[in-house]
Amino acid sequence: MDAQVRSLAIVGGGPVGLAAAAHALERGLTPIVLEAGPQVGHAISQWSHVRMFSPWEYNIDKACGRLLQETGWNSPDSTQYPTGGELVERYLVPLRERTVLGQHIKTCARVTDISRVGFDKMKTKGRQSAPFEIRYRNGVEKSLVADAVIDASGSWFSPNPAGADGLNAVGECDLKDRLFYGMPDVRGKLRGRFARKAVAVIGSGHSAIGNLIDLVTLRDEAPETRAIWILRGDNPEKAFGGGANDRLAARGQLGSLFETYVKSGRLEVVAGFPTTHISRVGDQLRVGAGSACCGRHVVVDELVVSTGFRPDLSMLGELRISLDDAVEAPPALAPLIDPNLHSCGTVRPHGARELAHPEPGFYIAGMKSYGRAPTFLMVTGYEQVRSVVAHLAGDYQAAERTELMLPETGVCKLTAAGAEAAECCGGPPKLHADACCAADEAAKASGENGCGCSAR
Ligand SMILES: Cc1cc2nc3c(=O)[nH]c(=O)nc-3n(C[C@H](O)[C@H](O)[C@H](O)COP(=O)(O)OP(=O)(O)OC[C@H]3O[C@@H](n4cnc5c(N)ncnc54)[C@H](O)[C@@H]3O)c2cc1C
Repeated sequence: MDAQVRSLAIVGGGPVGLAAAAHALERGLTPIVLEAGPQVGHAISQWSHVRMFSPWEYNIDKACGRLLQETGWNSPDSTQYPTGGELVERYLVPLRERTVLGQHIKTCARVTDISRVGFDKMKTKGRQSAPFEIRYRNGVEKSLVADAVIDASGSWFSPNPAGADGLNAVGECDLKDRLFYGMPDVRGKLRGRFARKAVAVIGSGHSAIGNLIDLVTLRDEAPETRAIWILRGDNPEKAFGGGANDRLAARGQLGSLFETYVKSGRLEVVAGFPTTHISRVGDQLRVGAGSACCGRHVVVDELVVSTGFRPDLSMLGELRISLDDAVEAPPALAPLIDPNLHSCGTVRPHGARELAHPEPGFYIAGMKSYGRAPTFLMVTGYEQVRSVVAHLAGDYQAAERTELMLPETGVCKLTAAGAEAAECCGGPPKLHADACCAADEAAKASGENGCGCSAR
């Protein structure tokens, strides 16, 4: 074991933060998880009504599974798809309440800043051997020190704004409380707010699609409800995904169902609409593209902004971190996940090496490590922290080893620029001349039509 690393501070008690802590315990390190919310899985609890697209078998980290087995845990059926709420109640909460991990978790502890003890960002000499100082609020401001830090604080609480240029649309800041960001439970807790209303959803990722499908279902139950899809681009088909080719079947089905709804006219599509302004018109909201007063606009009762997420980097200002200037992921990881180049759900397995920053002993892992890219899977995060913790513990061989079993996906597709980068879907095919990439080759070898890239 690396003599310098004994204690590990982990920011965030989501699935990846808890996995990091479990791996740290197995390797004899002392972890402390600081979670901002009142319970572990606080971010996932905000979308507890949503059914996940990966089954249990991909949602449980191996080290966490081992801890739970020791307690006689009644493990869920690996083929079933939990909701977010079930993931928290059946997996994350038992980890805190029934295993030794509970002694290493502080809830209601929001990390605000991280630095090196006695070293601001500019000071270099001796920096490497100084421990980290982690400031957090737990009622009052507190501080702890640790030899290493993993930031697994996710990005759920820093959603992208409605503006097509990445800024808040003009007027959006003043209306924040009137808008909804994320995934409202429109058929459950928030039914009263959304039923029989004209509701627009901005965005074209999985969250936007999930919201629109829920709204169409609500429309079946309460027919005056209108579901309006506002998208920046002019090609709705890009949002349909890999359909039957998607190896995460539930995600493929969601895309196919959405396609059916769009094509049958059950939701209204406003395409090629770069949102620039949002204002109030009586009790309603006016969403505009191009101007506050005239030009294209949509008037709705409710507006849901589902334009993705971005990492909150505010707590990392005193650390030396290096991020890709577009994706905001570590530079070695960014080209593998940049949606401008590559929209595969499959990402080459990666760990400590790709996640390293100029600040030794500091890593960003989990959802936050993907920066603004939307394709993160928990199982990828579990592999990341397995490798990072192995590295911190001095087991460099294990850190370099790949143990990731990632479900392949047919939603991979390349733009022309991406094709030139030639990193698609596991790289070029080895044997079959008619396959466009390694994933396509594997799919064809197993009797399927292909992985779906070439169809796009
Ligand atoms: C609707 C939806 C459905 C999804 N479905 C799937 C799926 O089916 N399969 C899949 O693999 N992935 C899915 N994902 C992606 C999923 O969110 C991630 O895989 C997973 O939640 C990421 O885990 P994480 O631990 O990195 O981050 P999070 O789950 O976001 O956890 C981060 C934790 O950090 C805490 N935190 C934040 N800031 C601070 C701070 N300053 N100090 C202390 N604590 C802080 C938060 O409260 C939170 O508990 C889905 C995402 C969404 C939004």
